[in-house]
Amino acid sequence: MPSDADALEFIKSHENGILQSDLWKALKIDSRKCSRIVAKLLKENLITRQVESTDGIRTYRLLYLDKSNSSRFKSLMPVHIFEPCAGCIEECEPEHCAKLSEWIFSIVIHAEGGVEFKISQEDYGQDT
Ligand code: SF4
Repeated sequence: MPSDADALEFIKSHENGILQSDLWKALKIDSRKCSRIVAKLLKENLITRQVESTDGIRTYRLLYLDKSNSSRFKSLMPVHIFEPCAGCIEECEPEHCAKLSEWIFSIVIHAEGGVEFKISQEDYGQDT
């Protein structure tokens, strides 16, 4: 059974990050076990994540957090989700962007005590 350290090493070995949906397949674990590992690594600030859609399915790209450079990106990651516009190549309508809205609400919620929540793109009238 792969450990948290195995997952972290796997994420770390992918310079451009790895999709969470690929991580659990690569580690040969189920998606729920993978979610628990990812949540733990996020809580320990060892990784960060950004929302990404693949084949219309919403998932996360997981990125290793290099502590030596972490202060450089502090303004892009005030919470455990990396600022979604950095590197985004999607057609941009900020007022209808679920990723941007989730990131902004995460900052607000984090400031108010850290309640976890999710917003789907359907909530904002976007197709996935
Ligand atoms: S607002 Fe949304 S679509 Fe536009 S650049 Fe940011 S993440 Fe990408």
